[in-house]
Amino acid sequence: MTDDETVQDAGFDDWLDAAENGGAYYLECPEGHGSLPPRRVCPDCGATELAERELPDTGEIETFTVTHVPTPAFEDDAPYATAIANFGPVRITGQVVGIDLEAIENGLEVTIDVSVSETTDERVVAFEPAEQ
Ligand SMILES: [Zn+2]
Repeated sequence: MTDDETVQDAGFDDWLDAAENGGAYYLECPEGHGSLPPRRVCPDCGATELAERELPDTGEIETFTVTHVPTPAFEDDAPYATAIANFGPVRITGQVVGIDLEAIENGLEVTIDVSVSETTDERVVAFEPAEQ
């Protein structure tokens, strides 16, 4: 381990590491509000005592958008679907993978995964349909 790691983004990178290894978590304040790293205070009430809690295994797609004409940063990934999934305490935005775009629907049960953007080579949050 080195000391030269900058603080910026470290929280979310760590979170992606955890999610990639099947250990996705969220942060919970004493009032029960959920959020994702990087956070130092609860976005709902400003509490600073945030505890790591295990993320539920599956979430439900609440809303999604299919992008056919993407911004340049994602042009090699198009068309693709971006969804907001409800995991109970937290809502997470991610790219839907492993399913035909036409088959995506609100209420679809998904698990969280980490994939790599074909355009930027950066890791992104992905949702895969949960096994029924
Ligand atoms: Zn709170």
